[in-house]
Amino acid sequence: MKIGILALQGAFVEHEKMLDQLGVESIELRNLEDFQQHQSDLSGLILPGGESTTMGKLLRDQQMLIPLREAILNGLPVFGTCAGLILLAKQITSKEESHLATMDIVVERNAYGRQLGSFYSEADCKGIGKIPMTFIRGPIISSVGEDVDVLAIVNDQIVAAQEKNMLVTSFHPELTNDLRLHQYFMNMCK
Ligand code: GLN
Repeated sequence: MKIGILALQGAFVEHEKMLDQLGVESIELRNLEDFQQHQSDLSGLILPGGESTTMGKLLRDQQMLIPLREAILNGLPVFGTCAGLILLAKQITSKEESHLATMDIVVERNAYGRQLGSFYSEADCKGIGKIPMTFIRGPIISSVGEDVDVLAIVNDQIVAAQEKNMLVTSFHPELTNDLRLHQYFMNMCK
């Protein structure tokens, strides 16, 4: 099994390390050629945290936006963390343009404000149990469509969700030692 990790910007190395620990091969996708070369043997795709506006611009500059969107709509399992979640959202509350726009969620960027921008929590994640959650200027999911399954809630806000082949978290599981969410995604990729 091989997992592609979008490596334009942000925290992609941390995801590679998680997959290493699970014994899963990963490949960094830095441009369209990387994606096209490996697309046929990718079992899944990870969109890391970072800065969603920058990543959205790079995806457009590299002509990757439409091919990635099509692959996801055709069923390629995808896991978006933090900025990666924002890339997948159909709608962003600040009215800025959406990016891959494949998942039926509305997100609010930097939703925790300056004071509570970064924090640690532990909460139940459906199908997994209690997991550690590291938030870094993360978004919240302000509403979900009817096919979206809410997986975790912290401070009355939705912080993890799944819709068919798409899994998102507003926190960073790759910055903890807990491999269970990545294992959960691997099960979606099988
Ligand atoms: N604040 C970033 C954004 O809106 C996301 C932060 C992150 O990925 N840790 O794109």
